[in-house]
Amino acid sequence: MRTIRRPLSGTSLTAVRNLGILAHVDAGKTTITERILFATGAIHKRGEVHDGTTVTDFDAQERDRGITIFAAAVSCAWSGHRVNLIDTPGHVDFSDEVERSLRVLDGAVAVFDAVAGVEPQSESVWRQADRHGVPRIAFVNKLDRAGADLDTAVASIRERLGVVPLVVQLPVGREDGFTGVVDLLEMRALLWRAGGETYETGPVPEELREEAQRRRRLLEETVAELHADALEEFCAASALTGPTLARALRELTLRGDGVVVLCGSAYRNRGIEPLLDAVLAYLPSPADMPPVRGESGGAEQERAPDPAAPFAALAFKVTATPTGRLTYVRVYAGTLRKGESVLDAATGRTERVGRILRVQADRHEEREEAVAGDIVAVIGLKAARAGTTLCAPGAPLVLEPPSVAEPVVSVA
Ligand code: GDP
Repeated sequence: MRTIRRPLSGTSLTAVRNLGILAHVDAGKTTITERILFATGAIHKRGEVHDGTTVTDFDAQERDRGITIFAAAVSCAWSGHRVNLIDTPGHVDFSDEVERSLRVLDGAVAVFDAVAGVEPQSESVWRQADRHGVPRIAFVNKLDRAGADLDTAVASIRERLGVVPLVVQLPVGREDGFTGVVDLLEMRALLWRAGGETYETGPVPEELREEAQRRRRLLEETVAELHADALEEFCAASALTGPTLARALRELTLRGDGVVVLCGSAYRNRGIEPLLDAVLAYLPSPADMPPVRGESGGAEQERAPDPAAPFAALAFKVTATPTGRLTYVRVYAGTLRKGESVLDAATGRTERVGRILRVQADRHEEREEAVAGDIVAVIGLKAARAGTTLCAPGAPLVLEPPSVAEPVVSVA
């Protein structure tokens, strides 16, 4: 169980989600990322993985190999929130990159294949996320495939990952006839139109009503078992309402006591909008995160996710692009301003921040500053590498290396 912190109130940090999509190769991470960008309006045309037009796969080598090798952070907006998607390589060979991206995430969606369930690679990525204490929700993808079965996939999540699944949806239709889901919190159906572009909400179909009620009771019982105290705290009345249950599910997610499970078919564009809603509802914002720890002049120091604190950030990815050398940074504390100098306290070297960009799918948005909780790309840094701490020159800090030293579990 993890300790959860109460967020700093009254800050826009609560409207940010730094999100990773964790999956083994082929589970559908690229398709989901692309569908998220489409659903949020960040891109206007849907690309397909097989024709190499998806936005996150912008590296030619990556396109050729059909696997996501290089991390990129892409920003989009959903329901008044900013969602920064941090790409995490799904291939174990690139585990250093996985580790680095896990460090800068606040929460993640773990993707599983509805036919295969938990596979060895999904298990090793899950364990890495465990070691970094990343709160997660699960998305069982490819429900449209022949042989797809949510219950079997959920059983494998329980058995292989040793976590308590909290299934919040019931699929409508099977395999090729999979058309939507019943939202067990709101007790309503979401049915997608043929192209998957839009969906309609309505009452639970008659033939699924009993099953939906049975599953809702199961969900309530599981939540009550895991979290009796919080339920008492939340529930003035005797019956659990959707919002009450949602609050309990959020606490369980942040504590790592259970995993909320959603389902869909990224390929058919079904299930993406409720997945985004779940990211906002259950996964933490930067304001929920504990202060980062580091070393300053031989002493341990903490910095809170507060825009007014002394600046501290981690460079986690450097790429060469036609725009220049892009250094992706996660700001943990304070504010990074264009034109100011930042210090690499480990080397004593100071560098100037040329431009600050928010990377949005196929374009960049110029920013004057980036505050605690933000993930941006900086142009103008020449020496910073992936793993470099950047801080305010007057307040040196070297962030602690990740608290994990174990090698990644190798898989057959
Ligand atoms: P990644 O390796 O995890 O990034 O997976 P991709 O997004 O590249 O998907 C791997 C393959 O599965 C591609 O051929 C996709 O078209 C396909 N795929 C992704 N999502 C679905 C889905 O929901 N249903 C089906 N049937 N295929 C899917």
